[in-house]
Amino acid sequence: MASKMTLTLPTGQVMPALGFGTWQATDAELEAALNTALEAGYRHIDTAPVYENEHVIGKVLHKWLSSGKLKREELFVVSKVPPVGNRPSGVEKWIKRSLKDLQLDYLDLYLIHTPFSLEEVNEDLHPVDKNGEIKLDKSTDHLKIWLEMEKQVEAGRAKAIGLSNFNIKQITKVMSASKLPISNLQIELHVYFQQKELVDFCKKNGITVTAYSPLGSRGLVKLMGKVDSLPDLLSNPVVVKIGERRTKTPAQILLRYTLQRGIAAIPKSTNPDRLRKNIDLFDWELAPEDMNELNALDQGASARVCDFGFFKGIEKHPEFPF
Ligand code: NAP
Repeated sequence: MASKMTLTLPTGQVMPALGFGTWQATDAELEAALNTALEAGYRHIDTAPVYENEHVIGKVLHKWLSSGKLKREELFVVSKVPPVGNRPSGVEKWIKRSLKDLQLDYLDLYLIHTPFSLEEVNEDLHPVDKNGEIKLDKSTDHLKIWLEMEKQVEAGRAKAIGLSNFNIKQITKVMSASKLPISNLQIELHVYFQQKELVDFCKKNGITVTAYSPLGSRGLVKLMGKVDSLPDLLSNPVVVKIGERRTKTPAQILLRYTLQRGIAAIPKSTNPDRLRKNIDLFDWELAPEDMNELNALDQGASARVCDFGFFKGIEKHPEFPF
C-alpha cells in the first residue's frame, strides 16, 4: 500500500486522513470489525459516549496494546463530550469516563459533540419529557465549556481539542476567546452536501475538517425517515461511472474525493470486505475531471442527513446550529 494520507493539526499532531467510524454497530459486530480494521491498517478511530461502545473499543485496543502488536503513539483516538455533559462541570467528568472505558491515558483529539446541551438526568444520554420532547439545557456557554476543554489538554488527558456540528458564528466566538487552537471540526460532509463555505472558513483559520457520514449514512437516512427525499450516494450514476472508469467501488470514489479535498473521512463499516476496500485509497487518485464532476453533485444543506431531528424539539435550543 502506498503511503497513507494525513492531516497536520495546529498542535503539530499528524492525523490519518481516513478513520474508522463506529456508530450504530452492536458490541459483537464492532469488536470483530475493529480487529479487522486494525489489521487492515486503520489507526484513526472515531467514537463518542453517545455511541455506547467505548468499552468495546477499549477491550480491543487493550488487547492490541498489551500484546505489543500496536504502540499507543501509532493510534489516533477521537472522542467527544456528549450533549448531556455539555457544560463546564461535565467536561472533566466525561473525558475521564471515556478514558476509563477506552482503557487509555489520553485521547488524541477531544471534541464538543454538539453546540447544544441536554439536561443531565441520571445516566440517560437522551432524556425526554412526558411528551417525548428532548430535555434541553438552554444555559449552554461555549466559552466556559471551551476553557474546561483547554484544561484537559493541560492535564494531559487530551492532546488536542475541537468542535463538532458547530456553525461559523459559533466557531468564531470560541476562536475569539480560545488560548489553545481549535484543532478540528467534525461535520456531516459528503458529495451531496459539500460544506464549501464551512470548509473554506476552517482552512482559512487553520482548523482541520473531518467528514462524518462521508458515504451518506443510509442507516441514519432510514432513522430520520428521509429515504425518499435523500437518494443513495453510492448508486449515483456519476459516482458509479467514475468508479467504472477507475475500477474502484462507489464508496472508494466518495472517500478518495473527500481526502483529495484535504478533508479527513471516517466511514463506518462492520462488513470486513467493505471496510478493507474503504481504506484502499492510497495508490491511486482521481483526476481533475473526476473531481469536477463530483463537485457538481453538491445540493447544499437540503441534502443534510443529520439534522438531529431524532431529538424532538431540539431546534428550540438557542445554540441549535442549523
Ligand atoms: P457513513 O459512514 O456515511 O455510512 C455508513 C453506512 O454505509 C453503513 O450502513 C455501512 O454499512 C455502509 N457502508 C460502509 N462502507 C460501505 C461500502 N463500501 N459500500 C456500501 N455501503 C457501505 O455514515 P455514519 O456511520 O453516519 O458516519 C460515519 C461515522 O461518523 C460514524 O460511525 C461516527 O463515528 C461519525 N459520526 C459523527 C457524528 C457527529 O455528530 N459528530 C454524526 C454521525 C456520525 P456496513 O457497516 O454494513 O458496511
